[in-house]
Amino acid sequence: MTYAGVLQRYRSLLDIPAHTVAITLLEGNTPLIPLPRLADALGGGFDLFAKFEGLNPTGSFKDRGMTVAIGEAVGRGVKTVICASTGNTAASAAAYAARAGLRCIVLIPQGKVAAGKLAGAVAYGAQVIQVDGSFDDALALVVEITQKQPIALVNSLNPYRLEGQKTAAFEICDTLDSAPDLFCLPVGNAGNITAYWMGFRQYNDLHASGLPRILGVQAVGAAPLVLGHPVEHPETVATAIRIGKPARGEQALQAAEESGGKIIAVSDEDILAMQRTLASEGLWVEPASAAGLAGLAAEVRAGKLNPRGLRVVGVCTGHGLKDPGIITQSMPAPVVLPAEIEALEDAILV
Ligand SMILES: *Cc1c(COP(=O)(O)O)cnc(C)c1O
Repeated sequence: MTYAGVLQRYRSLLDIPAHTVAITLLEGNTPLIPLPRLADALGGGFDLFAKFEGLNPTGSFKDRGMTVAIGEAVGRGVKTVICASTGNTAASAAAYAARAGLRCIVLIPQGKVAAGKLAGAVAYGAQVIQVDGSFDDALALVVEITQKQPIALVNSLNPYRLEGQKTAAFEICDTLDSAPDLFCLPVGNAGNITAYWMGFRQYNDLHASGLPRILGVQAVGAAPLVLGHPVEHPETVATAIRIGKPARGEQALQAAEESGGKIIAVSDEDILAMQRTLASEGLWVEPASAAGLAGLAAEVRAGKLNPRGLRVVGVCTGHGLKDPGIITQSMPAPVVLPAEIEALEDAILV
């Protein structure tokens, strides 16, 4: 059968209303890419894969949930959708709303959204509003407006987002024939870790596919789930996880605990170093997307985790193109040469 998106592929496993229609850009079906060099650098003797979610239609895993949330909204006659976003939710909501012919409004924290994400939301025709405040402030506003107006909320508080997102867990189990032993991912608003745990448990109930230990990873400057309290002014280069009050914090902690795993925090330096490491193996991911594997590396190097003999999957949640500034700003501009062969030879031959 021709691939037609996550809703079509896994509909019978999703707890969604019957009125949900298929609004798809053929999201999902992303590759599980082996990372043999990173595995060797961490001591070797285990299988390591990246689930590269940056290859979704708008460049992040948000598309898996958005196809379902928008399809549900369309099915009950909604005309306008709204979300608060650190960027990727905005681009995804804008794309799926455009696909469905809906009006889309996105609220973003002023000046805190990476260029590629803002451009996406604008390109797909959303009404973009900057809020003089944090993501958490923007989320509080959209929750309030959707209680007053006939506008559908498509943040991950919307339960159908998680139904769509859990399909990534199904895909991993289908590809590997069972669940991995260890599973790591970045944690921001904590919808994704919640969705993966739902997905792994559901697949285990159906197919005895097993359950992974989950390592959830936050950034040190935005680590409410590690600190045990909200962070008033979250700060990290990993803008997609710059969140101080995760909407699904309790569920994230429960997922980590039930799985026998944990939630840790890594520094921005560790995140950027892992971004470079992944790029050196051919995967360019945005900073937040490197956090999960940065957490794995930190645990292994600190001797807290021995991956030998395990099958490990790290989710790379979004594409590097989303945040080009983080690379170009830290890099000298490429040299300029006269258009002469001697100059080229001087520059490249050692
Ligand atoms: C949304 C997002 C996250 C965080 O996911 P949560 O569900 O908010 O925990 C991480 N990385 C990227 C690239 C994202 O877009």
